[in-house]
Amino acid sequence: MTPREHALRLDAQDPLAGFREHFLLPEGVIYLDGNSLGALPRATPQRLRQVIAQEWGQDLIRSWNTHHWIDLSTRVGDKIAQLIGAQAGEVLVADSTSVNLFKLLAGALTLRPERRVILSEAGNFPTDLYIAQGLIELLGGRHELRTVTPEDLPTALNEDTAVLLLTQVNYKTGYLHDMAALTAQAHAQGALVLWDLAHSAGALPVDLGGCQVDLAVGCGYKYLNGGPGAPAFLFVAKELQEAFQSPLSGWLGHAQPFAFDPDYRPAPGMVRHQCGTPPVLSLAALECGVDLMLAADLKAIRQKSMALGDFFIALIEDLGLGFALASPRAATQRGSQVSFRHAQGYPITQALIQRGVIGDFRAPDILRFGFCPLYVSFRDVWEAVAVLHAVMKTTAWDRPELKLRGTVT
Ligand SMILES: *Cc1c(COP(=O)(O)O)cnc(C)c1O
Repeated sequence: MTPREHALRLDAQDPLAGFREHFLLPEGVIYLDGNSLGALPRATPQRLRQVIAQEWGQDLIRSWNTHHWIDLSTRVGDKIAQLIGAQAGEVLVADSTSVNLFKLLAGALTLRPERRVILSEAGNFPTDLYIAQGLIELLGGRHELRTVTPEDLPTALNEDTAVLLLTQVNYKTGYLHDMAALTAQAHAQGALVLWDLAHSAGALPVDLGGCQVDLAVGCGYKYLNGGPGAPAFLFVAKELQEAFQSPLSGWLGHAQPFAFDPDYRPAPGMVRHQCGTPPVLSLAALECGVDLMLAADLKAIRQKSMALGDFFIALIEDLGLGFALASPRAATQRGSQVSFRHAQGYPITQALIQRGVIGDFRAPDILRFGFCPLYVSFRDVWEAVAVLHAVMKTTAWDRPELKLRGTVT
């Protein structure tokens, strides 16, 4: 059987194949960047037209009550909770991932006032590290951000660790941390854990409850398909919620915002983490993406995502094109992406994009390909590798215009 026939056979047996038609993707594009910006669900434009024309246009401010805009952040949060092993009332949609990191890190430090260290890994996504650095400066420099390699995390945890801050799936390599083990190790030292689920929510089953995670944040515009700049989410375990303070004590996080009390009193539960007025249009779009995820079986998503990645790696390595695998070879240790290193990674990525194969590049030399199992087929993977093969054989990447870098890579 040729690799192409193998791909077609795998597609024919794919239990998720029917989800492809629930997305609007352009003809002639193989989209391998859903880990950066998820595709557009077919239901979203229609829903947004309705919210804009009817709820905003006709019903105006009454819609906060009549169309339940005021409950959107908790309603969509409760739906996301089902995707990440959390309970209803543990997840709120609000702000961006970066802002939510700030809120939860600040709250975590106040719960461990005698401890000084935020522990993370050096390869964490920059915003996670930047937010920790900025917070430490704001708090007068009494704390320290300590970053180590993933292997050194268990020994770096000690009685001075206030919070372990990790992204479950590394954005560059796709390396998947053992959430249960690291959370248990942090707890054994009395530290709190804050997991960033940017590359795991919607990509694989996550069990915050089963792992006894304290705090988490995640992204709305990646695997949840919420649209560009979609609001993010945050999770605080039930047991911590009463004691947990948000540093951004805005009016919509007040126990009674419409009492217009001059003194702040936090709302019970997660609502206190809603600083200001929620972005209703973006939340409506995010809900469409989350509803689609809820209709799919996360175990099937994980199975297919691992198989897509394995197939991609095998095809590329068979061609012997000089790409070095930068992701774990074992699918169980990878998220839903595969990365390769190549010194000409940037122009090669541009040449692929020019030919309709959209992945992305992460400096200095990483070509990153995301496999969203709801809309990527095995045939897509085969075709993407065929295009890559042609680009390498003809050195089509070696053109000056493909080496000019845009602001966003
Ligand atoms: C994508 C991503 C973010 C994004 O943060 P924004 O505030 O939405 O820009 C944060 N952390 C990680 C690990 C990410 O992958």
